[in-house]
Amino acid sequence: MAYSAFRIFRESLTGNRGWKPVWREPEPRPDYDIIIVGGGGHGLSTAYYLARNHGITRVAVLEKGWLGSGNVGRNTTIIRSNYMLPGNQPFYELSLKLWEGLEQDFNFNAMVSQRGVLNLYHSDPQRDAFVRRGNAMKLSGADPVLLDEAGVRKLCPFLDFDNARFPIRGGLWQPRGGTVRHDAVAWGYARGADRRGVDIIQNCEVTGFLIDSGVCKGVETARGPIRAKSVAVAVAGSSSRVMAKAGIRLPIESHVLQAFVSEGLKPVLPGVITFGAGHFYVSQSDKGGLVFGGDIDGYNSYAQRGNLPAVEDVCEGGMAIMPMIGRARLLRMWGGLVDMSMDGSAFIDRTEIDGLFFNGGWCYGGFKATPASGFCFAHLLATGESHPVARQMRLDRFRRGKLIDEKGQGAQPNLH
Ligand SMILES: Cc1cc2nc3c(=O)[nH]c(=O)nc-3n(C[C@H](O)[C@H](O)[C@H](O)COP(=O)(O)OP(=O)(O)OC[C@H]3O[C@@H](n4cnc5c(N)ncnc54)[C@H](O)[C@@H]3O)c2cc1C
Repeated sequence: MAYSAFRIFRESLTGNRGWKPVWREPEPRPDYDIIIVGGGGHGLSTAYYLARNHGITRVAVLEKGWLGSGNVGRNTTIIRSNYMLPGNQPFYELSLKLWEGLEQDFNFNAMVSQRGVLNLYHSDPQRDAFVRRGNAMKLSGADPVLLDEAGVRKLCPFLDFDNARFPIRGGLWQPRGGTVRHDAVAWGYARGADRRGVDIIQNCEVTGFLIDSGVCKGVETARGPIRAKSVAVAVAGSSSRVMAKAGIRLPIESHVLQAFVSEGLKPVLPGVITFGAGHFYVSQSDKGGLVFGGDIDGYNSYAQRGNLPAVEDVCEGGMAIMPMIGRARLLRMWGGLVDMSMDGSAFIDRTEIDGLFFNGGWCYGGFKATPASGFCFAHLLATGESHPVARQMRLDRFRRGKLIDEKGQGAQPNLH
């Protein structure tokens, strides 16, 4: 089904009875060219670009729950490309460019809103670090703008500039950053892949891998074995659990990350704002709710709900820059499972088992990566070669000493 102004008009005259389910519910076939494990944003975008860019359509996406039940439907929807290192920055800039054309590309309203992302700085050394980051962004054509205090005051007059502990001195502003309606992204990619012939199979947990003499020949699932020439795993927070079934140990820990939404308020935030002296970020949804988050919970977990110490920490961060939010009531909160890699950067790579590929380690920030991740993973699966912007996202980079330590924090997941 295609969407158009004419179609909406016609449906409005006929009681909206012509709309059809957005994707099919096929039974799994006995074999495919490629099986993608995980129907989150990355698995679905991989399937979409395999079909769209490479014409590979004998593909199944196997999802243990329902589409959108993982982080793709749980995140705080922020997109940006304000990365610094050559292993990351061109990749995230490609992703932002893909976001910019995405809705036209898959003919689905994903509410891509380039309302800007502002990272606050609170000290001279932090300003210098942002200048460096901004210059690195420019190298791949991104759009950093360094704002001094007056510039931030103009944009966000409501911030607590003279906080005794964390005075605001300015910010790094990326006008092309913003927010996207997260679950619409899953639905749009699912629909686009399904229309091109990809089978999206929900409620089909992968329980093991069919490995014969070091070659992966398919998967065991809750609905029986399915064979494939290649198996591509993109299960985010479940990465270490799933890859352990193939005997692979990853440099990844799973942690809970919580998100929060306040009651609806009049429009006040111009875009996304992040605190520079603690972990707090906030935007305002189109319905008016303040959508915010902060640090991961402090211990490893596979539970999709968090605990109170992180709630307190996030709210303290918010109060330090925006005391006015102390009056807002919290409406909802939830947790998602994030796959924290030990240098804060992701993996898009083949594994030591022939035919088994891995995509993960997205930490706090894999939603913004969704388009480029699928684009590059599909490239790797279809051509056998890493896409140039994802070439450094290798699983053996720790062994080779080629870390992509974006923040220079080492193996300290909560600081990535
Ligand atoms: C609270 C929160 C806020 C966030 N905010 C942002 C943000 O603002 N910006 C940003 O860029 N990123 C953000 N992120 C991170 C981002 O959401 C993730 O990095 C990204 O969504 C992960 O990729 P995914 O969409 O493929 O994951 P998921 O949607 O989690 O997809 C993985 C899928 O694999 C399935 N699966 C697991 N095991 C199996 C199995 N054995 N068999 C079959 N299927 C399986 C799961 O059910 C799941 O649906 C946030 C994350 C959280 C939790």
